[in-house]
Amino acid sequence: MTSLRQKDLQELIARRNQEEPIISLYLNLSRPQQRSTEVNSMLHTSLQKVKSDDRFSREQQKSLQDLSRKIDAAFHGGKIRLEPRSRTLALFVGTDGFWKEVQFPVIVSHSQVHVSFSPYTRPLTALKNVFTRYAVLVTDSRQARIFTLFMGDIENRHDHFVKDEVPDRVRAKASLASGGGRVMGASGGGEPVTSGIGDQKIQRHIQDHVQHHLRNAAEKALYVCKDSGFERLILASTEDYLISSLRNHLHSYLQQRYIAAFKADPEEHTDKLRKKALGVIRTWEQEQEEQTVNRILEENHAAGLAVLGTEPVLEALGFGQVHTLVLENDLKLGGYVCDQDGTLSTYLEKCPACSQNMRKTEDLTEEMIEEAVAQGAEVEHVSRSHEEFATYGIGALLRFKV
Ligand SMILES: [Zn+2]
Repeated sequence: MTSLRQKDLQELIARRNQEEPIISLYLNLSRPQQRSTEVNSMLHTSLQKVKSDDRFSREQQKSLQDLSRKIDAAFHGGKIRLEPRSRTLALFVGTDGFWKEVQFPVIVSHSQVHVSFSPYTRPLTALKNVFTRYAVLVTDSRQARIFTLFMGDIENRHDHFVKDEVPDRVRAKASLASGGGRVMGASGGGEPVTSGIGDQKIQRHIQDHVQHHLRNAAEKALYVCKDSGFERLILASTEDYLISSLRNHLHSYLQQRYIAAFKADPEEHTDKLRKKALGVIRTWEQEQEEQTVNRILEENHAAGLAVLGTEPVLEALGFGQVHTLVLENDLKLGGYVCDQDGTLSTYLEKCPACSQNMRKTEDLTEEMIEEAVAQGAEVEHVSRSHEEFATYGIGALLRFKV
């Protein structure tokens, strides 16, 4: 998890169940021409709904109307400055003066407005993988390139080349001695090439240089890791043996972050490298998803550390057992929430903890996600359909049994 997501999400989650209402607005920016009328009409519709909701006092209703005008004015008066690459804007504004704006270069959600006493954070929790910073280290025997990928783009400030300083003369000799290959910039080196005797020595010399180069590349990767804080490392090379040698040179920090390798040349076109890496990341993420779902299915027995289905997950949340909450992307559940103590249920109208009347909600899933994040649990949104898991739609890995 990156600092960006952690910071933003934690700040918002900390504002759950406030005294004063908060407006959460997500705006898909891919259709700029309709933007301001869209904001206006979404706010209008949501505030109409609030009028018939007795959780909001007359005073709060009035504050919300004022707030809605303030948001509208911010869009028109240029207070909200959209960055050119932004595809989604998320805005959280409270009647108590809270104002938080986040922009994303990806489409996070469709346009929507929620008015409640907690910020609506579900679309943000689905972003986990988008917020992961990856590093890609591409090497051949002589040069390497390392760069980081964040939200699908290469970050220029973490893009470095590493070049070996093997004298070209030695290389040319080795290359000819081994019967061809690439002669690297050996222009006008007058010496005749010997064969047989001395070849082994030259080869060993070259191998030393290759190892030296890989060690440099691994050191550079460690530097980039400290500098950028990347969480996952991908290696690439034209040769498999270079990848396995390189892995031996990696610091243990980096070994833990290594996830996959692919075929590429450090001199390949940047965008080609980027696309190859994104393909590798996609595959890896799908495998991870598969593994998590399989673990839940396997551990879902009396002595196991997983539960499946809404009621068992609610119970586990109640006991603070949830390590990872896993749910289908579009899962929608209705239910009841206790505003006193946060108890959640799909069917109980009276709270079992405090016997107050529970509030009906159309989005119990959001309440479950917020509760999970507030407890420090991971949230995984499953995007592919897994037949067995799909019959439940929700499950959790547990920290402990009760
Ligand atoms: Zn209660």
